[in-house]
Amino acid sequence: MVKARLFDFKKFVVFVFCLHALLGCADELSRTLDRSEDVVTSNVEIAALEDDQVTEKDNETFFEEPVVLPVHLGPLLAPQKKEATNASSYSIGSYFPVLSDDAVASDSAVSASSSQSQPQPLLEKAEPWSPAIVPFLDAPIESKPAGGFPKPDALSKSSKKEVVPAKILAVDVHPKMPRIAILIDDLGYNRHGMDSSLMLPVEVALAILPSTPFAMETALTAQKQKRITLLHAPMENQRELKLGPGGLYAKMTEHELKATLSKDLDGLPGIQGVNNHMGSLLTTKADSMKWVMETLKGRSLFFIDSLTSPKSVAKKTAQEYGLETVSRDVFLDNIRTEQAIDKQFSRLLKLARLHGSALAIGHPYPETMAYLKKRLNHLEQDGVRLVRLSDLLTASPSVLAPSEQ
Ligand SMILES: [Zn+2]
Repeated sequence: MVKARLFDFKKFVVFVFCLHALLGCADELSRTLDRSEDVVTSNVEIAALEDDQVTEKDNETFFEEPVVLPVHLGPLLAPQKKEATNASSYSIGSYFPVLSDDAVASDSAVSASSSQSQPQPLLEKAEPWSPAIVPFLDAPIESKPAGGFPKPDALSKSSKKEVVPAKILAVDVHPKMPRIAILIDDLGYNRHGMDSSLMLPVEVALAILPSTPFAMETALTAQKQKRITLLHAPMENQRELKLGPGGLYAKMTEHELKATLSKDLDGLPGIQGVNNHMGSLLTTKADSMKWVMETLKGRSLFFIDSLTSPKSVAKKTAQEYGLETVSRDVFLDNIRTEQAIDKQFSRLLKLARLHGSALAIGHPYPETMAYLKKRLNHLEQDGVRLVRLSDLLTASPSVLAPSEQ
């Protein structure tokens, strides 16, 4: 009897203990939820910026550039000043110089490593810029001289008799100097971001979020500077993050979406184009994109696809409507350190050399502003030119029937 009562008491103690633990967990959970909601709702800007980062990271493999090894590319040729003055000596010889009498006479020593190379003229005459000429040689890797490719100085020592011509299989010659364009978006929330981005070279374009505290001031100053300005149209993302004022959502009807976008555009003076803020969901919706492009077409505006989803149909739809368009190649500052931004900037230059041009999107972070302020002054050394965003736009004739446009 006593034993049975003791057993009941034990059960009671265990029950009370479990109940207490359960209540404690529930309390902690509700506090955690409260905190996370605070973070999301109290700072739309931060949440918005994170979206770009996450989508970029999620789709890293989709956006990865093609693998091109240095051995595929061969040496990158750049004319030397001395040779540029003499039209006949300007050639692939900037790396494998043509052997003028002067060059031979300048040094009597003959380099053994240079004996495999032959002057191979590619260009008729000197140009004022450094062309990105990438020869694909059929020589096997092992035939590369020990110690790497010879320096031009060493090559100038070789004699004409000893050189063997390298057969060129394919040559990638861009008729113009590689070009880069830069777009800074997410402007409007922050005075420091506005001031510092307006101090960047005038070729750098700015995209402004609608109905934000500094939107009007940024647009007016940029207009005075004759700087290209865009509406940074907030579009629905896959993570259901708040878009802030003027957002475009997938559930909107044609009338609602066009009215909201028109109001956003009317609120900013001097707008020449639009790019998407976030939009990892909306840019995948064919109908919504159609309505966006119809609105832009009516106002003769261009569209930049920020490419926050690999499934984006935004650029394709813009092309169907015959709009001028281009899509983003590189995000500069997903990681906000000088080293990481520099790495992305190098990637931008590499893509520009490979394709002739490339577009970067950055944000008005102090780190990005400080980096660009410094870096854009030294672009000439890289043989790359900073151009206005409009220089990268292309338009193909609309494929739609006139009644659909
Ligand atoms: Zn944005």
